[in-house]
Amino acid sequence: MNNCDDIRSRIAFYLDDELRGSDLTRFEAHLDECNSCRRAVSGERRFIESVRASRPLYPAPPALRAETERILNGAPPPYAAPPELRARIARSLWNDAPFSLKGRRALALAAAAAIIVVLAGLWYSARRPVGDPLKRPSEFAMMAVNTHLRHLRGQLPFEITSDSPDDISRWFAGKVSFSLVLPNYQQSSGQEQLYQIEGARLVAFKNDYAAYIAYQMRGRPITLVVTSDRAATPSGGEAIVSRGLTFHYHTIDGLKVIAWSDRGLTYALVSDLEERGQQSCVVCHAGTKDRDFIEDLKPRSDTQ
Ligand SMILES: [Zn+2]
Repeated sequence: MNNCDDIRSRIAFYLDDELRGSDLTRFEAHLDECNSCRRAVSGERRFIESVRASRPLYPAPPALRAETERILNGAPPPYAAPPELRARIARSLWNDAPFSLKGRRALALAAAAAIIVVLAGLWYSARRPVGDPLKRPSEFAMMAVNTHLRHLRGQLPFEITSDSPDDISRWFAGKVSFSLVLPNYQQSSGQEQLYQIEGARLVAFKNDYAAYIAYQMRGRPITLVVTSDRAATPSGGEAIVSRGLTFHYHTIDGLKVIAWSDRGLTYALVSDLEERGQQSCVVCHAGTKDRDFIEDLKPRSDTQ
């Protein structure tokens, strides 16, 4: 590093009044003899002063500040950094930083590191499945979400592209170990097209294949995954009984998942639709009589 580069890397420290002793003497001696570094320092100083002169445009409202403090104060102790990690962060802050950082800057860095550790803890605890193992989504529901996301990322091309439920049902015959017949309410009722089938493919689950069918409703993707009820048992989440069936609702990574078993098959519907995602049920229940059924699955205001 030549002398000018070395000086430029210390301008921020100089302007923060954090250079001391021989570091400060050497810095100022260089400015006396180098026009270009002197200009760099005064340019940087003008910039900092203009920033300081302007008030923050959007101060955080008191409610947001209070909420942030509440979250930070309420972070559960198990997610605080263990003592060895704290010691290592402290050592690296004090030893490795240029000009052996001291004072305000080191404190600011330590505070930033502490906040990162707390946020990482919050992120980790938010990502963990619900603590109660009985509420945890089934492996099948997780697989359905994974299938949905992989398809959105373009990692699961269709093996059959068709908007016909009959074509799709025929394609699965002999490929899966269960019988799957997709209903065709729309065609038979002649009602408005509520959704389109896009295509389908096999997806692996346990040691067998499950059927994956992709739908679109008003431009939003809906995933239906079906397997035999010997391979998957829906469980956990919020259980709602309707018409003798038990539906398990989950929100996983922001997606709504409904899983249930009926007549030998286990189903999972994944969507980003509103409420519990119950509108995704129309892919099989588009008939007028089924509208009540979908209404039944809506969260009631007293259960929300
Ligand atoms: Zn210079």
